Amino acid sequence: MHLKNGAKIAIIGGGPAGSFFAHFALLYAKQLGIKISVTIFEKRNFAKKGAKGCNMSAGVLSEALINKLSEQNIRLPSACIQQEIDGYFLQLPEYGIPLHYPYPPHKTNIVTVFRGSGPKFANYDIGKSFDHFLLEHAQDLGADIILHPVTTIQIPKDPKDLIKLTYGEEALKAEHAADLVVGAFGVNSDTLYELNKLGFGYVPPKTVQSCIMDIYPTRTVNNALYGKNIYVFSVGSKFIKFAAFIPKGDFLTICLVGKRDMDKAQLHTFLNHPKIQKMLPKDWDDPKKRCVCFPRIPLNHARHPYTNRLVIIGDAGISRTYKNGIDSAFTTAQLATKTAFERGVSEKDFEEGYFKPAKMLLGRDNVYGGIILMANDIISRQKHVVSNHIKYMSEHPDSWSTRQMNEVLWNTVTGNATYKDIFFKSLHPRLLLNLLPATLFSLIRKND
Ligand SMILES: Cc1cc2nc3c(=O)[nH]c(=O)nc-3n(C[C@H](O)[C@H](O)[C@H](O)COP(=O)(O)OP(=O)(O)OC[C@H]3O[C@@H](n4cnc5c(N)ncnc54)[C@H](O)[C@@H]3O)c2cc1C
Repeated sequence: MHLKNGAKIAIIGGGPAGSFFAHFALLYAKQLGIKISVTIFEKRNFAKKGAKGCNMSAGVLSEALINKLSEQNIRLPSACIQQEIDGYFLQLPEYGIPLHYPYPPHKTNIVTVFRGSGPKFANYDIGKSFDHFLLEHAQDLGADIILHPVTTIQIPKDPKDLIKLTYGEEALKAEHAADLVVGAFGVNSDTLYELNKLGFGYVPPKTVQSCIMDIYPTRTVNNALYGKNIYVFSVGSKFIKFAAFIPKGDFLTICLVGKRDMDKAQLHTFLNHPKIQKMLPKDWDDPKKRCVCFPRIPLNHARHPYTNRLVIIGDAGISRTYKNGIDSAFTTAQLATKTAFERGVSEKDFEEGYFKPAKMLLGRDNVYGGIILMANDIISRQKHVVSNHIKYMSEHPDSWSTRQMNEVLWNTVTGNATYKDIFFKSLHPRLLLNLLPATLFSLIRKND
């Protein structure tokens, strides 16, 4: 089963994975000299403010992703960029330490964006939504965009027949048949469970509910409080795995990922932590200048995200746990398009050409990621040990161990290196030996 001249591709979901798939597919077709049609179905309108137009994420674009975009000639317009980021700041209850790009003199290239058109309370034009920009890019290359949800998917018994989609609401319902359907619907959509019911073996990723809150400190206050830094908090909380303050021009995005589903109560517990209170801008709790949502984030990868003429990519398929999901959307879109155009669109083609390599690249690394995050949970509860290590870093800024720890922490917060690299770097015998005195001292002090 191959994509031939006149082939129709339908993409369910115009988030990053969907737009990237359209990008690669239209470039492939051009290279091969075949005419194809690509239709993206998207239920949101990214030009709208608030939840209706937003794909709910922290909106940090990693350096690796920005480089990949520019290799593809996808130039991020300055209107999309809310803030250029210089570094990270790791804040513990007692100490904090700046983290910086480990290989000077290179300056890091990380930016923050809004996935939609900004918080619902923003009463002025915040610039351009990142997802809107990508969708327009796909449209410029020749994709058709239909701003309606796909409601049903019919997989034919005979794989030679096309897949049928129904889209639109109520009276406006219409059908669309496609040689290839790409599921790029993320993990915050009922479509996950619809596909699960179709019986070809798809099991969606497990997810946990996170929390995002946008507030409006203004650019001046943001600069004074955080500079151009993303603040990452390790407050030793039982519930929170990861918490960050992400400056975005006039706005600040507060992002919380919990060990279990986050809810309003946990958000309030976090915000009322004495250390966090000191870090928050004045008037942060003005309900008129607050936009809160609870999106789900994947914890593992899907099972069997493919069948004949159908492939599931991005968060709904496989992504790197907790890190740079947009980068994973790019990678899975690239692998799936390569498979569709170079091998074919059968179940076997997607298994061999897409999912096996994706599992090698992302799934295997997530195993190391799991170990690192578990170790981090255990270590961060040993507050004395962590504080002493951070104290060591601030007192010996030029030592080899500090540089090594900075690299491990930088790569952990930015996702710049694979989890496997981070795992082995953090277990370097010289580092463990150098940290032994500080570790023993803090353990003895704790038992005093
Ligand atoms: C709290 C949090 C913080 C995050 N922070 C970052 C970050 O800083 N950087 C980063 O790189 N990643 C981050 N991520 C991850 C990132 O958001 C995802 O990995 C990425 O958006 C996945 O892209 P996607 O295209 O697969 O899915 P999505 O972005 O979820 O896009 C899916 C699209 O499909 C549409 N859709 C769904 N069902 C249908 C349907 N039936 N019909 C039509 N349209 C449909 C949706 O409206 C949506 O637009 C974060 C995630 C969370 C939860």
